[in-house]
Amino acid sequence: MSGEFVFGVDLDGVCADYHLGFRDVVATELGVDPESLSRPTEWGYEHWGIEADDFSRLHKLAVTEKRMLRNLPVMDGCPDALWRLSDLGVWIRIITHRLYVNWGHAVTVSDTVEWLDEHRIPYRDICFLGDKPQVGADAYIDDAPHNIDALRRAGHTVIVFDQPYNREFEGLRAASWWEVEEIISDLAARTAARQPQLPGLDAGADRLNRFQSGQS
Ligand SMILES: [Mg+2]
Repeated sequence: MSGEFVFGVDLDGVCADYHLGFRDVVATELGVDPESLSRPTEWGYEHWGIEADDFSRLHKLAVTEKRMLRNLPVMDGCPDALWRLSDLGVWIRIITHRLYVNWGHAVTVSDTVEWLDEHRIPYRDICFLGDKPQVGADAYIDDAPHNIDALRRAGHTVIVFDQPYNREFEGLRAASWWEVEEIISDLAARTAARQPQLPGLDAGADRLNRFQSGQS
């Protein structure tokens, strides 16, 4: 459909708190207090003493046996912000790189969709990717340095979802879903201004106003 503003939304570290879910699985496996496993300040989990092979084993255990993806905490404000953006006429495209491993695809896909339903996260379509970062969105949000870098190098608009391991990036950055909503509302409105034929945006904006004033 032409004219829609497509917002590509990453899941882990953006909508879902992967760190907290994975931390609990790893703490149980290592027999340590979860609180002793701090959030990474660099991409990866070497600071927990986990090398690449160990990470793969623990991630697989977390996904296939502990069903971690079904139970990840949702980021504050994420579903509401996405609903309001959807009401503005923004096309929400969920993009997840969870299929970067070659096992567990069925459980990964089903637990991901179940999690999205459980948290009432609106989306028009969903892309499960391996390592290809781009899927044809007007703007993206991601937390992973390699994805942010690859998308920006390809000339795409990317909001960095603020995490301790991505602070080196300049440009668009959001520390909360309220900030994400503000940035995307602005980008979508500017796009709409260039495409006056875009249907639904005025009506959507009205719905947002009604939402904000407490009316249904
Ligand atoms: Mg991510």
